[in-house]
Amino acid sequence: MSSSALSARCSADVRLKLETLQPTGSFKVRGAANKLLRLTEVERQRGVVAVSTGNHGRAVAYIAQRLGLTATVCVSEHVPANKLTAIRDLGARLIVGGESQDAAEVTARELAAGGMTLVHPFDDAAIIAGQGTIGLELLEDMPELTTLLVPLSGGGLIAGIALALKRANPSIRVVGVSMEAGAAMIESLRADKPVALAEARTLADSLQGGIGLDNRFTFSLVRDFVDETVKVSEGEINHALAFALKHEGLVLEGAAAVGVAALLSGRVTPDGPTTVVLSGRNIAPETLYGLLAEETS
Ligand SMILES: *Cc1c(COP(=O)(O)O)cnc(C)c1O
Repeated sequence: MSSSALSARCSADVRLKLETLQPTGSFKVRGAANKLLRLTEVERQRGVVAVSTGNHGRAVAYIAQRLGLTATVCVSEHVPANKLTAIRDLGARLIVGGESQDAAEVTARELAAGGMTLVHPFDDAAIIAGQGTIGLELLEDMPELTTLLVPLSGGGLIAGIALALKRANPSIRVVGVSMEAGAAMIESLRADKPVALAEARTLADSLQGGIGLDNRFTFSLVRDFVDETVKVSEGEINHALAFALKHEGLVLEGAAAVGVAALLSGRVTPDGPTTVVLSGRNIAPETLYGLLAEETS
């Protein structure tokens, strides 16, 4: 979708990749579908377990329901209620516990040791390849693309997209955007090895969590294929959410608004036709009402 409001602000052709329109409201169905469709018959019978900040669990539950296999989803105590309800409504078993995403992952790994297949939210080749289909679609729909902004947490999304784009055209500039509070991948790149950060409160709840100290794929893929990373503030995310609603009629969740925030704040300047990946729409309604009240007061 072309954005005239952002194009005018940035003096460039700016378009939006609407992963908000996916079933379950985020791009996570891409990786979940690719992973679950590759399971053997025996693995299907044993079921799957996912650890999630909400959207990945919901996507796994959705695909599992369609394939007729059982899904268990482990989440921390900080996952918003709207996301928990959605996971339960899809028939998955939900295990809520732990102060952080990393704590929920410990539970998931225990269940996996008992025979279920762990469907990791980002550090898995099938998940990365699934998210990478966004890159293939961009090459088809917008071959003139020069700059792409992608929300960055564990890095499965940007790693898949960057792999697809760079193989076709290494000059496309791929920029990862995280929130200031708890940008685990960006700090890991700085340290030149995976580091753990304390989990902080943020509007971009889907970007919370570490990259895993034993990270297998995404750390090196992001290091080797992503051109730049930037951080945006909570205020900038808030403003970007309100901007998307006001000018484009789009409801985004905080994590999905970071690319728009990077453009509006001038932290990233497009150098030609640009696309922003809008990764999801699953914001809690009360959070949205609160933000809009703040923005208009
Ligand atoms: C999972 C998620 C992200 C981040 O994806 P990673 O692969 O962990 O980098 C961004 N936005 C939304 C809405 C998400 O659900």
